[in-house]
Amino acid sequence: MVLPKALEELIDEFKKFPGVGRKTAERYALFTINKLNDEDIHQFTSALISAKTKIIKCPTCGHLTDEDLCSICKNKNRDQSIILVVEKPTDVFSIEKSGEYKGLYHVLNGVISPMDGLGPDDINLASLWTRVINESVKEIIIATSSTPEGETTALYIKRIVQDMDILVSRIGYGMPVGLNLEYADDLTLSKAIENRKKL
Ligand SMILES: [Zn+2]
Repeated sequence: MVLPKALEELIDEFKKFPGVGRKTAERYALFTINKLNDEDIHQFTSALISAKTKIIKCPTCGHLTDEDLCSICKNKNRDQSIILVVEKPTDVFSIEKSGEYKGLYHVLNGVISPMDGLGPDDINLASLWTRVINESVKEIIIATSSTPEGETTALYIKRIVQDMDILVSRIGYGMPVGLNLEYADDLTLSKAIENRKKL
């Protein structure tokens, strides 16, 4: 069975999203055609364009923002002496949702992965060094995942700052190896931060 070209193209667009296979893409495409009216389509396309044009990476921490600095870096009530290092913006969402952590963040937007040809210069580390030199940072908590790449990244950070007067700790993973922060519940996350261990 051959589908109309325009429908096939829409399915192909949805298939570009992570976790969306052919079947799901077909469902999304048919939903778009059958259930969304012109107003919905207009809102959807303008939200896509608006997010893509307005959202930037915070120049300080690498988190997503639509302002000059992200809301966390701007918030002077947060503990400026602790930086929690995570792999991606969604990790910040997960930890913020647990509501316990009151320090700052640094989003690497990746991990060091020699297998994939990703070295220290390919992730957001340069601005972390600027922060630890310029700011009143006393502790760095590393919350990269417990995969070999996450561990390599953690040890690299430890090695760079080891001669500075900064405590480097690793989030207490009572979590299975490779588990993503985003799948941990709020209590587990709070405990993981509380149970951090000196690296
Ligand atoms: Zn920021």
